[in-house]
Amino acid sequence: MIECRLINNRIRPVVVCDECRQIITDIRMGMVIYDKEKVYIYHKRSCDPATKTGSFPDIQLGWSELSHFLERLWHNTQIDIPEEERVTHEAAKKAIDFLQEV
Ligand SMILES: [Zn+2]
Repeated sequence: MIECRLINNRIRPVVVCDECRQIITDIRMGMVIYDKEKVYIYHKRSCDPATKTGSFPDIQLGWSELSHFLERLWHNTQIDIPEEERVTHEAAKKAIDFLQEV
């Protein structure tokens, strides 16, 4: 799920695993399972319901890499950030490093 957490006296939006409740700090390790009404976000492998039970929940319609899901969400909300304001790879890495230190 997407939450806001108080980290170092600042409210920060984060993606949280629905199984272990930890912040997902490596986009490559996130996955999404969804049905018509709800989205479930997990760490791949360690928290993935298919890994734990051998199958996805019956209600699921599909799954996606977290990165692909967020890209589609970005596209479907028509966010258009000017090039000069986009988060650079270096800025994203610093943000991730910061979250991993917390
Ligand atoms: Zn997890």
